[in-house]
Amino acid sequence: MPVYTHLTPHTSAWFEQVLERFPKRAVSTLMIISMLNGDISACSICGDKPASNYQLQSDDTNTWKFCSDCLGIRKTVYSEAWIRMIESVQT
Ligand SMILES: [Zn+2]
Repeated sequence: MPVYTHLTPHTSAWFEQVLERFPKRAVSTLMIISMLNGDISACSICGDKPASNYQLQSDDTNTWKFCSDCLGIRKTVYSEAWIRMIESVQT
């Protein structure tokens, strides 16, 4: 069982981790960021802004950047509990 770390979304360490853990979603996020010329402040799912960092309540190593629409979809469609991450220094 691999050990995952609590990381700020869209950092290089975060991408390494999600590529291993959620490869399809990670590749899609990489494509979105590349279409936005490397703007890592956008939503992981759709590329909208503003977006904020969230962690799954039951697993703080599962972190993503969501806009308000995508956060709403995760909560209502997937019944996932996401809480806002305490902002830390971007590395
Ligand atoms: Zn979004």
